[in-house]
Parts: sequence; C-alpha cells; structure tokens
Amino acid sequence: MREKDGKNRILRVENLVKYFPIRAGVFKRIVAWVKAVDGVSFDVYEGETLGLVGESGCGKTTVGMTILRLYEPMGGKVYFRDIDMFSAKGERLRKLRQKVQIIFQDPYSSLNPRMRVKNIIAEGIRTHKLASGSELTDRVADLLKKVGLSPDHMNRFPHEFSGGQRQRIGIARALAVNPELIICDEAVSALDVSIQAQILNLLKDLQSEFKLTYIFISHALNVIKHISDKVAVMYLGKIVELADKKKLFDNPLHPYTKALMSAIPIPDPEVRREKIILKGDVPSPINPPSGCRFHTRCPFAKDICKEEEPDLIEIEEGHFVACHFAEKF
Ligand code: SF4
Repeated sequence: MREKDGKNRILRVENLVKYFPIRAGVFKRIVAWVKAVDGVSFDVYEGETLGLVGESGCGKTTVGMTILRLYEPMGGKVYFRDIDMFSAKGERLRKLRQKVQIIFQDPYSSLNPRMRVKNIIAEGIRTHKLASGSELTDRVADLLKKVGLSPDHMNRFPHEFSGGQRQRIGIARALAVNPELIICDEAVSALDVSIQAQILNLLKDLQSEFKLTYIFISHALNVIKHISDKVAVMYLGKIVELADKKKLFDNPLHPYTKALMSAIPIPDPEVRREKIILKGDVPSPINPPSGCRFHTRCPFAKDICKEEEPDLIEIEEGHFVACHFAEKF
C-alpha cells in the first residue's frame, strides 16, 4: 500500500472506462456508444475528501457508480487498499461492498417509502451480520443520534421527514456498516442552501469522528470548495485538472477550470472578476471532439488541440493538467 505525506492510499482508479450502448432497430443492434467515462485515473488517500466536479453529463456520477460496480466497467482497474475491486467475487466482494458505501443525490427516491427508518438503517447491518436483536436496535438509535435525529424517529416512514432529515437517514444508512470510504453523489444538490451547509458540516464532523474518506461528486464548485481537500475537474468523460484544493482555486491552469471558477460569485462588491463565457454547448459524449475534447469551446485553442489529445501531466508538485499550453497560462 503506497503512502503519501504519511497517509495510506485507500483507493486507486486506473484508466477507468465506461461506455453505454445506444440500441436501435427491431433487433436492438448497438448503433453508437455514449462515452461517459473515458480513461479516468486518480488516487485517494485515507481521511481525505476528493471532490469530483464538472457540468452535468461530464461523467462524474458514472465514475462513482462504476467504482462501486453499480455499472459494470468496460475497462481499467480500481483497487481498494490494493484489492482489485473488479475481479473480487463472493465473500471478498461482499466485504468490499461493506467498506465502500454511497450516499445518493435524491433523499426522496433513495429511501424505500414502505420501510420504516429502523429497517432502512438496519438492512446493511443485517446483511453483513454486524448485530442483531437489541444490539441492532441500540445501534440504529445511536446512528440516528450521530446524524442529528432522534431515536424516536426509528419507527416512522420516510415521507414523515423533510429533505434534509431524509438525507441524514441516508447518511446513517451508509454509516451503519462501518465503511471506510463513502462516495457522496451530489449528496446536497437537492437541498435548500441553508440545509446544504448543515449536511456538509455533519459530513465533516462524521469524517473526523469515524476517520472516513470521501469522494464527493458535485456540479457546484462552492460546495466542492467547502468540503474537499483535493479536486478533480472533469470534462466530457476525462479529468482535465487535478490538484490540492488551494492550488486549484488559487491558480487554476486549465482553461475549462478557469471558466468554471470565473462563474463563482465573489461576495465582496469591491472585487471584480472577468467572467469567461464559453462558446457553444458541451458536445455530445457519443461523438466527442478529436484531440483535446475542450477545443470546440476553448478560447485558447490552436491547431494542435484538434489533432493531439493532451495527457494529464504534473505541471507542479501535485498539480496535474491536461492541456498542451498549461505551462504558458
Ligand atoms: Fe484549450 Fe488546447 Fe489546452 Fe485544450 S489543449 S484546453 S483546446 S489550449
């Protein structure tokens, strides 16, 4: 297991690929592929939060779902503490599924409306045989307290709660099986701004209490800035920039990251920032542009950008950028 700055690597994603087929005709033949994730690599270290950010459709949710094998991968490898997640079977896979959990975006549809809160939270505990009987009830009560709810809530149904409370139930469900890594997929996007802050702070508190590691997927840069230690920016199925949060927000190098940053409102009316307006829409992932996928919208594109795909290279320590001209910006 590799170490960095005294921390162990908990997850390695290597060249992850996931395409979805488009079928047509009577025989439902495959006529094209949606290239949702096309060669994504990153490492995550114990106790840190990696933010995965990009516009809707960039592939960030697909990365999370494929790591967990909720979508079958088409290529690449994922290692959890050096265990190959894609070749694990039986007991080993069951154990991995315990250690890596997910919190979904929509607290309304991710909880079974016919199950009581107690059973929603206890499901994983029973599956993994972590407790039973009164010990299980105590554990559910304890988890409800940890996420800011009352043990009295355990016999209620999801519809009796607000959106923020339901997301707290989703967090308790993920925590119930003693995970080490939690993938938070747009976990606060469906909530009001004031509730978002409460849930983000709860996640941070739980992270330090339980030594958790997060992959936090969001389209909102302000949310990513609040919670992440490291940030990966995705565009059309690829990571275009990856760095520590401070480096990325103080000195974004990829033109796409610069454009995203320029759209964040500055709370100080004295400070002005020029907004970079990108031309055109995000191209279709069915037929992504040649060379650098961003060239159709990039204000700095040159001929080489249409022909050669830039690699994600380390420009300065821990700061990776996929742009032919990153060092000149
Ligand atoms: Fe823009 Fe070219 Fe850099 Fe791509 S490689 S981001 S098109 S300058």
